[in-house]
Amino acid sequence: MSAPGSRTAAPEDAPAPSPDVVAEVAEVAPLVLASLNDDFADSLLLVGRALGGLPEARGAQATGVDPAGVDLVLEGPDGPVPARVAFPEPVAGAEALTPALLDLVTRAREVAGEGGETEGERAAAEAARIRTFLTEVVAVTDVGPHLRQITFGGGDLDDFAPCGPDTFLYLLVPPPGRTELTVGRDFSWEQHARMDEAEKPVGAYYTLRRWRPEAAEVDVHLVLHGDEGPASAWAQRAEPGDPVALWGPRTAYHPPAGTDHLVLVADETGLPAVAVILEQLPEGWTAQVVAEVADASARQDLPSGPGIEVTWLHRDGLPPGTPDLLVDAVRALPALPGTPYVWGGAESRAMTAVRRHVRDERGLAREAVSLVAYWRAPS
Ligand SMILES: Cc1cc2nc3c(=O)[nH]c(=O)nc-3n(C[C@H](O)[C@H](O)[C@H](O)COP(=O)(O)OP(=O)(O)OC[C@H]3O[C@@H](n4cnc5c(N)ncnc54)[C@H](O)[C@@H]3O)c2cc1C
Repeated sequence: MSAPGSRTAAPEDAPAPSPDVVAEVAEVAPLVLASLNDDFADSLLLVGRALGGLPEARGAQATGVDPAGVDLVLEGPDGPVPARVAFPEPVAGAEALTPALLDLVTRAREVAGEGGETEGERAAAEAARIRTFLTEVVAVTDVGPHLRQITFGGGDLDDFAPCGPDTFLYLLVPPPGRTELTVGRDFSWEQHARMDEAEKPVGAYYTLRRWRPEAAEVDVHLVLHGDEGPASAWAQRAEPGDPVALWGPRTAYHPPAGTDHLVLVADETGLPAVAVILEQLPEGWTAQVVAEVADASARQDLPSGPGIEVTWLHRDGLPPGTPDLLVDAVRALPALPGTPYVWGGAESRAMTAVRRHVRDERGLAREAVSLVAYWRAPS
């Protein structure tokens, strides 16, 4: 391990990065640094302590990143200390930065020799789980006005396992007017970007409502919002036997240790996750749900219990994605009890408004809030 404040150089035989790669990495560096400092502070601290030469560091900030490594400022007992942590070899392009940074976290964990899981390690474990499952529609059932349950079964789902109560997958189906999939198990977003428009699959994220491992089946609940949405148009016509690919699984539900109260904020698209979160509510936790639906006939059966309160909001003729309904109802909640975690899945502007309220007005910490834009209403 190097001395505090030293700049550990890249291995001597490492090839120097080309000027093109240096420029490419410089271009993405501001965004990468912002994400490292905002979302992966605990991973930076692990790296700073184990590989940056300051085991007693109490905080770490990334101040620079280039093809050969990352510059940190470690918060030591005697004040800030600069440190340089080199990659084993310089990256070959901007797309290799994330894997190289995650690799530093893995090495830091080995060197530290202690247990635990930082955000970076969680992200790496999640990335390793993601693959593309080829399967097919086995059943289609209407479960509410404009809400359709589609069951996928068989094929690669034998090996599927959810990764959280809000487990979501990217559904890939044939391009409009086609019946065969244009993607395979090797699907990647790089491949997707290179596909001809006519070959690109129709796709959107959907949440796992139920998982029956013994039958290798998953149910999803899809909002039917008309034919202007290609995924909605596909769901409108889906039939048993239709081929689908599912890219995932992923989760955005990470209540910090100590959480004992949930605030769950959703429109119809987030309700499948809310239902599973409530089904899996740990003993002793309480939950407040704020759920927006079209009208009283669109309310859903959600798990109930002594610690669960549900507030239904009806749009009653207002368009989906009306931004103020959810935030006004969250604003009206009394002081949140215990150690709260706010999770949400709904229209983008509605989620932004709720985030502003819970972060700025209720003062919740970043880790106590996970509000995901599930779809975007036309502005
Ligand atoms: C993590 C995650 C999980 C999700 N889980 C679910 C789920 O379980 N069930 C579910 O139904 N959706 C879910 N969604 C939302 C779904 O992915 C979006 O609604 C998606 O836009 C649908 O694609 P599309 O091709 O039908 O429409 P798009 O091509 O994306 O949009 C076409 C038009 O339809 C409008 N639109 C899109 N979605 C809706 C909607 N729900 N209501 C009204 N208008 C809409 C858009 O504003 C746009 O004008 C999830 C999204 C995310 C990110």
